[in-house]
Amino acid sequence: MLTIAIANQKGGVGKTTTAINMATAMAATGWRTLLIDLDPQGNASTGVGVEASSRHVSSYDILVEGLPLAEATMETSIPGLDIVPATVDLSGAEVELVSVEERTECLRKALAGHKDHEICFIDCPPSLGLLTLNALCAADSILVPLQCEFFALEGLSQLLQTVERVQQGFNPRLNIIGVALTMFDRRNRLTDQVSDDVRDCLGDLVFETVIPRNVRLSEAPSHGLPALVYDHSCVGSRAYIALARELIGRFPPERQVAA
Ligand code: ADP
Ligand code: MG
Repeated sequence: MLTIAIANQKGGVGKTTTAINMATAMAATGWRTLLIDLDPQGNASTGVGVEASSRHVSSYDILVEGLPLAEATMETSIPGLDIVPATVDLSGAEVELVSVEERTECLRKALAGHKDHEICFIDCPPSLGLLTLNALCAADSILVPLQCEFFALEGLSQLLQTVERVQQGFNPRLNIIGVALTMFDRRNRLTDQVSDDVRDCLGDLVFETVIPRNVRLSEAPSHGLPALVYDHSCVGSRAYIALARELIGRFPPERQVAA
């Protein structure tokens, strides 16, 4: 299973929106896809229609309680997409894990040898704490959503330093598969400027596809649906389909088709 952590310690940059829609796009392309909600806010779970009241299992159970991954997985209404939802318990995990030996390895151990899915996206919380570290230690790759705003690059060096630390320590195979510019507004000259600056700074790491600011993307979660299901032809959905295609192109050649 190819595992991709969607991470950026800033809140509101489009992590959850990206996780939901990339997972949906991959599932639609025939990949058996797993979405792991690692944010105590549980927005990814709600966004794929898994209400709080129906979350009988959660990412807390696999991280802290040692529940096998297969038992923590729920089906969604989207064909080919399963989820490990998040519950509010997860907000305690950050503290509870501190006293655990190998506390950054809990998620990696839970995912080891998992064969039910071909690809897994992890929606990380807005911090560089133990939850995000668990995701980075478990992942093959990190995908970084970056909002096109004035302070976009601020904080990125801290994230890149964390990635480097994880690469040098717990998880040498971790790579940055790409940076996705989100909430791009063509009518706003500042957005263009930011996008140019980010590309100057990060080069090919930045995906060519940009995710536009699109109200359909922000409406969809209130219907418990990914934008790709809510309105598959809106510009936001189309952008995520293009991003998924670009993402697959960055996989190792032998991994570019669903098994
Ligand atoms: P994060 O998970 O990084 O906190 P979210 O994906 O939850 O970010 O996005 C923050 C808010 O912005 C949400 O209300 C979401 O619906 C909205 N949003 C995200 N991406 C877009 C976009 N491209 N266009 C419009 N609204 C967006
Ligand atoms: Mg989020």
